[in-house]
Amino acid sequence: MAEILTGTPVVGGLAYGPALWPGERPDHSPEKLGVGVEVAEDGRADEASRFTGAAATVASRLRERASQNTGVTAEVLAATAGLAEDRGWVGAAKGLIAKGSSAEAAAVAATEQFAAVFTKLGGLMAERVTDLNDVRDRVLAELLGLPEPGVPTPQEPSVLMADDLAPADTAGLDPAMTTALVTRLGGPTSHTAIIARQLGIPCVVAVSGLSDIEAGTPVLVDGNTGLIEVRPDDEMARDRVAEHRRHAELVAGWSGPGVTADGVAIAVLANVADGASARAAVDHPVEGVGLFRTELAFLERADEPTVDEQAAIYREVLDAFAGRKVVIRTLDAGSDKPLRFVRHPDEANPALGVRGDRIALAHPEIRTHQLDAIAQAAMGSDVAPWVMAPMIASPTEAANFAAEVRGRGLVAGVMIEVPAAAILAHAVLAEVDFVSIGTNDLTQYTMAADRMSADLAALTDPWQPAVLHLIASVAAAGRDQGKPVGVCGEAAADPNLACVLVGLGVTSLSSAPVASAAVGARLGEVTEEACRAAAQAALDAVDPATARVAAAAVLDGSVEPSVDDGVRRAASR
Ligand code: PEP
Ligand code: MG
Repeated sequence: MAEILTGTPVVGGLAYGPALWPGERPDHSPEKLGVGVEVAEDGRADEASRFTGAAATVASRLRERASQNTGVTAEVLAATAGLAEDRGWVGAAKGLIAKGSSAEAAAVAATEQFAAVFTKLGGLMAERVTDLNDVRDRVLAELLGLPEPGVPTPQEPSVLMADDLAPADTAGLDPAMTTALVTRLGGPTSHTAIIARQLGIPCVVAVSGLSDIEAGTPVLVDGNTGLIEVRPDDEMARDRVAEHRRHAELVAGWSGPGVTADGVAIAVLANVADGASARAAVDHPVEGVGLFRTELAFLERADEPTVDEQAAIYREVLDAFAGRKVVIRTLDAGSDKPLRFVRHPDEANPALGVRGDRIALAHPEIRTHQLDAIAQAAMGSDVAPWVMAPMIASPTEAANFAAEVRGRGLVAGVMIEVPAAAILAHAVLAEVDFVSIGTNDLTQYTMAADRMSADLAALTDPWQPAVLHLIASVAAAGRDQGKPVGVCGEAAADPNLACVLVGLGVTSLSSAPVASAAVGARLGEVTEEACRAAAQAALDAVDPATARVAAAAVLDGSVEPSVDDGVRRAASR
């Protein structure tokens, strides 16, 4: 088994190659630096010029390299050159030399003073200590007549490792030859991370045990998980990198619309919160909005926004998706998203309390105003929004809501996020034009596990087979009645789970827009039949981990698809 080291992942991607360490840094031992040897008074001016000369040479070399680069690389090189000429740092060193220090000892002592200050300031300043140490070592090498320290030119594609990398080390790296950066120190905003991002190569920082990896040792670097596999199986590692590259290209090139490999259309939609997020979502390959969480637009409001104010906000979203599908959800206030103007009652258990559509029990006018505002926004716009209510538990609630919505000439739907509504999906669907399954809450309520609880994260996993069974029966009810059944919870953002949902009979998938390309690309790789077989495999599992593995095996083609009559019947209804 390969040894595995862990660190903080800062730039995603996968790379495999031999470890490459930067060349030796100059020896900092007191003898080499001339610590304790006092420079005679008449030699101190020359010693100071030796120091300033070395610092100027280092600065001009760095500036020269800055001029040969562009963008962030040029900026960080110029900033490092600036450090080599920093008046404070040079002044501190000259002050020490004036007291008898050698130029070398002064370079080290002045750097220590500044590094202590930077470290104390913390944050970005602390991360500049590496840059300052790099300048120190370059100046020392210059003073000692040694070659400039830094990264050797790799002979084959390699993984560059270091305690930390300074901009001058990393600037001008060829991403075809340096395929990943891994450091023992550093944080997400260190120069190592900045440069890796610019080069588009994976990067992991703060890896413990890194110093034990010898140059030339093959390593597999996963910039998404932060795992470094030392001496992995060669063939497996190469296959994983090739597969990752192929998939990344596929995702980057996916531009919609959502369709399976055999041509079944599945709308890939965006979840948005207001006009700004809707305008940003348009940059992703989404076909419309599957969930506009209206309550998020009013979290700061002490008073209920007027109908006109609301209409203006809703119109922004409709305008961003002109001519496309937009599903607006009425206020899901309460529980983890209380709204001040709703004046929620004090409740011992707000997740099971007056939340979502239930606020209309005490405040019917809030729902009336909102539906009036949505109708006003729709007037004159070229989107006919679909409107749905959150937290519907019964067919009667669905019928009441649908009457209000249809009374305004709008398309009416409800969310299925309460198990009772999923169980009576046939009766709920009979009252509305569509449903959208909120898997976040459906999982919370099915598993009786607070979605906010980190301790219960294993229970609130959307791959829970019990939740998938409920989704299957809702989708079957939708097929029976020829009505759309979407999913707008986080489950729709997981590419393999999205395929399982399609296999269960779901007709659209809505999630954070950033997830859309990966979901769409995955759908394009698999047939509807494979989705059904993956759904069957997940339904047959007894826990989320088994469901994940079983579905992946079918979707990746390593297991023959088999669909039992139950899913075939449900899916073809
Ligand atoms: C859900 O519950 O899955 C959902 C989409 O609604 P929210 O996350 O806003 O509660
Ligand atoms: Mg919900």
